[in-house]
Formats: sequence, C-alpha cells, structure tokens
Amino acid sequence: MKTAFHTGKKEITVKEVTKPSPGPGEYLVKIKACAICGSDIWWNEDTEENEPVHGHESAGIVEACGEGANKFKVGDKVVCYAILGCGKCVYCKAGVPTNCPDKDFVEGGFQEYSVFAEDLLFSCPDNMDFVTASLLSDAIGVPLRGLRRLKPGKNDKVCVWGLGPLGLLQVMFLKALGVKTIIGLDTVEERLQKAHELGADYTINPLKEDAVAVIKELCNGIGADKAYTYVRHAKATEDIFKSTKEGASICTFVGLDGKYELQEWYERTFVWSFYFTPTEYEENLKFVRDNNIDLKSLISDVYPLEKINEAFIKRFDKPEDSLKIVITMD
Ligand SMILES: [Zn+2]
Ligand SMILES: [Zn+2]
Repeated sequence: MKTAFHTGKKEITVKEVTKPSPGPGEYLVKIKACAICGSDIWWNEDTEENEPVHGHESAGIVEACGEGANKFKVGDKVVCYAILGCGKCVYCKAGVPTNCPDKDFVEGGFQEYSVFAEDLLFSCPDNMDFVTASLLSDAIGVPLRGLRRLKPGKNDKVCVWGLGPLGLLQVMFLKALGVKTIIGLDTVEERLQKAHELGADYTINPLKEDAVAVIKELCNGIGADKAYTYVRHAKATEDIFKSTKEGASICTFVGLDGKYELQEWYERTFVWSFYFTPTEYEENLKFVRDNNIDLKSLISDVYPLEKINEAFIKRFDKPEDSLKIVITMD
C-alpha cells in the first residue's frame, strides 16, 4: 500500500509499505480521504526520528475487523477521531479524553490503510462523500465546541479573529445560529471576501484599519459581547481584549500570546476550547444537517496522495490561495 512519509523539511515522500492487519478490538480502515489541518506544521520542520505517518482528519471504509471488534462491520463508512485517552482517568471516565493527561494524538490518515481502535471510529452518514466527511473528523468539531462554550445569543455582537478554514466555519455556524452581528478579522483579503460570502456582516483587515476603533464603533461604542480567536499573536491578543466590552467572553482555540494588563481582563470570561469530545460527534452532525450547512463551500482543493507535497505547498506557502485541502487515496 502507499504511505506518505515526512522525509525532510517541506518534503513528503510516498513509499510502498506492507498493509497492516488489525489486532484484537481494532479495525483496518481503507482511508478514502484525509484533510490537511492548520496544525500540520510538522511539514515545515525538520524530520524527527521515528515520526508517525501524519494525517488526523480522515474518513474511510472498514476493510477488516480484528478479534472481538464488533461495533462496525466490513464495508461500514467511518470517520476517524484523533485523540486516544488512557480510558482510566477521571477525564476519560467522564467522556472527555481530550483532557486526559496521558492522551495520544492519533494520526496515520495520509496512507491507503490504517488501523484504529474501536473508540476512534464514528459512523459516517451514508449520503455523504468521503472528501466532505473528512471535515467531520476535526474541522467542524472545533468551532461547534466553541459555540457550546460561549453560547452566543442572536443579539450578541461577535468577532471572529483569524479566517482560515476553522474561523470561516465559525462564521458560518454563528450565522446559522441567527447571530445578527458577526465581525470577521484577517490580514488576507481573499479570506475577508470569503467570510462575507459565508455570513460575516462586517470584515476588518487589522493591517489596514484600527481594528479596536472599528469594532467599538460597530458595537455600541463599547465593544463586542463575544470573541473567538484562531490567532496567536501578541498584537491581536491585546486588540481582542481592548475590542471586547466589560463582561465579554473570549474563546481561544490556540492560546494567547503577548503581555496584557489586568485592566484588560476586567470582568471578562476567558475560555480555551480544544477539539471536541466523542459524545459531541452526533450533535455536530445534527447541527450541520439541521442548518443545511454547505461544508463543500469550505473545500478549495482535492489532491491525490501522489501529489500530497504540492497540496502542502499550496496550504502553507500560499494561504491566500486555498481553504480546506483534502487528500484522496484513490
Ligand atoms: Zn486537525
Ligand atoms: Zn485518561
């Protein structure tokens, strides 16, 4: 089978290896599609020893079941989850393996076949193609968890900082919720344009405008009620605090950089949201279905596995040229 190995800085090489077989309680999945994640920055770094096969946003078909693996059967369409918890700690027992101190990040999507434990697979909707389904494994779960964490109301004025694929999905989901004032921020003009198309009421390029002043003007002179940030940048952090009102809630998915004064935190609630939990998968599907979310509008390119390096160049060296890029295995 074909497998994509990270063989050097900005270098992925597809090689032929032996197809694995599933152990007890495991499934062999024929991977059909795996999306590139904004966190796949290993590509731009030197190769490490024994690096795993990357790719954690995949969907495919069950090809074989290991001994005692009976939740799925051969031929089932599945979506793959990316966090494996220890199964024993207080977080795992509560269904939140994302907070497990011994969690493993599960990859292996950029190849024709991969083995997954039962806990790592969800049913994929029959009527969904695999390219679209790859977005169920990570991309939609992050901003949807963000909605649950901040619970924005229709009359809230909400900013979204960083309009890469996840920020754009955040805009789409806020629109679907009925939020009337959505303000998108990014330094790439193409992404501001896309945010407008997908539901942002206002867009701001912080390199061209005083973002804090413009947001305050749009938000009753005092600032936004809520802010989501997919940006980790000192100036953005400062501006996010300054452009929200007292009592606002701020949700980051990537952490905050920079120095900020206590005054800027005044009465604000700060939330860090990470990935999504297995029990949220069905809720995520329901949200997409009930709101007729067009996930395809977020996919700009599909590349075959043989051209995976070209796909990464486009994703990371020319971010203005693409949205979500998906690799297909056949
Ligand atoms: Zn991801
Ligand atoms: Zn655990």
